[in-house]
Amino acid sequence: MPPLPTIDEALALVLGHARPLDAEDVPIAAALGRVTAEDTTSPVDLPPFPSSAMDGHAVRAEDTPGTLRVAGQSAAGLPAGARLEPGEAIAISTGAVVPDGADAVVPVELSELHDGALFVPRIALGVNVRPRGGDVRAGDLVVATGTRLRPAQVGALAACGVAVVRCARRPRVAVVPTGTELRRPGEQLAPGEIYESNSLLLAAQLRSAGAEPELFGAVADDPVETRAVLERALAADVVLTSGGVSVGPHDLVRETLAELGASEVFWRVAVKPGKPLAFATRHATLAFGLPGNPVSSLVAFELFVRPAVLALQGAAAPGPSFEPGTLAHTLVRGEDRDELVRARIEHGDEGPVLHPVAGQESHMIARAAAANALVLVRRGTGELPAGSRVSFLRV
Ligand code: AMP
Ligand code: MG
Repeated sequence: MPPLPTIDEALALVLGHARPLDAEDVPIAAALGRVTAEDTTSPVDLPPFPSSAMDGHAVRAEDTPGTLRVAGQSAAGLPAGARLEPGEAIAISTGAVVPDGADAVVPVELSELHDGALFVPRIALGVNVRPRGGDVRAGDLVVATGTRLRPAQVGALAACGVAVVRCARRPRVAVVPTGTELRRPGEQLAPGEIYESNSLLLAAQLRSAGAEPELFGAVADDPVETRAVLERALAADVVLTSGGVSVGPHDLVRETLAELGASEVFWRVAVKPGKPLAFATRHATLAFGLPGNPVSSLVAFELFVRPAVLALQGAAAPGPSFEPGTLAHTLVRGEDRDELVRARIEHGDEGPVLHPVAGQESHMIARAAAANALVLVRRGTGELPAGSRVSFLRV
């Protein structure tokens, strides 16, 4: 049997099939978390005029120190009518236009006003004046293509007057849990039944990746029902099934996907947990057969599905975004699979320290919920000692 693809090999196969979806206009108010489909340059200088950094008085630096006549005022949104002449000061508020002729602003707390005469100390040229275009110049790049917009970037685009951003549309992702034993939370469990949790976990992961989940109810391990549901699900951009991809007699997902015309790209990856992952495509639709064990599903999503969903949105760096850290406890390496170990991040003097949580089996979702990191333990022999430098994903 050929060796199973490694995490990196499987990821490369997935990303090779994840082409960006078409773009749409997104109002800036709805753009947080969306991925830009084009470079956005500023249509304006920012600030658009020389503006005051302080409440105070606009003056000519060469008139200071001195006693000046207050000749008018410039408030935010209400510029002074006239230019500043020698010997004059103009009362000014933060963000107001520094009038022509002025080249510095004396803060209000440094001057004294008596009967219309303003005494100002020495002030250097340009102090408290924000030059036009000092933040960004018209034509400068504000946000590059392929950027997943963060709050500050939404703010920067709005500050430049950008009302609409071109972004890839959000991927629609059908989530299909399989298993005769599965009941919805809130229902009564009969003997042998468990609560269906993977679709909710996956939906939460999908939303955090900018996708729109479409949740299907649990499908019994029955070929007719499985086929009917997967047929509908394959209309989405991505299908995530959960369970039914191992080698048991009730594991129907792979053969049903094949019957529906999907071609399998790989099945099984050299990773723990998550080994039974299947990946297939039908036309532009990507189908992931995720393992049923909840922690396997969580891990496979972070390694392969999140990057795919971000790549479908045109993200320049779809990840997964590993960060460096230090391992707190010694771990035993697996001989033939890389492992993602659930851990808690603590902040040490030299950066993040990863504390593996107790209970690393793939059904232990409640234990995994105590973790906020997945530590990558590369396969090998022997131990990975405490203090080793490792890579981890935040989850
Ligand atoms: P399977 O891959 O179908 O053999 O499932 C592996 C394990 O995961 C079994 O213990 C299932 O009961 C469990 N499982 C499968 N699907 C789900 C789900 N959607 N939510 C919670 N547990 C599941
Ligand atoms: Mg099953």
